Amino acid sequence: MNLLLLGPPGAGKGTQAQRLMARFDIPQLSTGEMLRSAVADGTDLGKEAKAIMEAGKLVPDELMIQLISERIGRGDCAKGFILDGFPRTTLQAEALDVMLNERGLNLDKVISILVDEDALIERIAGRFSCANCGAGYHDTFKLPKTKGKCDECGATKFERRKDDNRETVIARLKTYHEQTLPIVPYYKADGRLVEVDGMAGIDVVCDTILDLF
Ligand code: AMP
Repeated sequence: MNLLLLGPPGAGKGTQAQRLMARFDIPQLSTGEMLRSAVADGTDLGKEAKAIMEAGKLVPDELMIQLISERIGRGDCAKGFILDGFPRTTLQAEALDVMLNERGLNLDKVISILVDEDALIERIAGRFSCANCGAGYHDTFKLPKTKGKCDECGATKFERRKDDNRETVIARLKTYHEQTLPIVPYYKADGRLVEVDGMAGIDVVCDTILDLF
């Protein structure tokens, strides 16, 4: 099962990808996560990506295509994968189809999560995650059950993304409109796209997505 989650920053792609990962036992391929770990590790890719990410812009297509192509080729993707954050440009979308085609694969579903963009800044500005296992939380919508302690792993250290601030979020939304939204018609044209209301609660959105299968 090869899935793609589409939507603006803060739409809940990462959250839903985690649920789908547990349900189908296939990995979540988040290019944002891959880049954040490259930045943390100080690799060449990380050094190139850091300022671009902090400005809310996009890392060059060639780098991203190479990154995802290598990732899809790993053994844990044999049963499928969930793409989260890739493709983000028409060029990436076309390159993805080529690389999948070459491997005799295709995308089973492209799930577009629709959200009211006015809600996004609040959603993003409030989010944080466990520094140990990455479980996602939110100041308003999802606090840990025990204050200061991760529900999943019990760790007590949390972190916030550097690009989850108001100024960068506005830039990320602009980038999304200019460069990522144009890929929607690409997937609509051949019937692969399904649209899901992302404004409902996390569980409802998840059930709606699972009902597609
Ligand atoms: P995300 O975690 O998906 O919100 O991604 C965080 C940031 O990483 C984005 O704002 C971009 O700067 C960069 N990024 C992630 N995925 C891509 C991609 N497919 N193409 C270009 N840049 C990306």
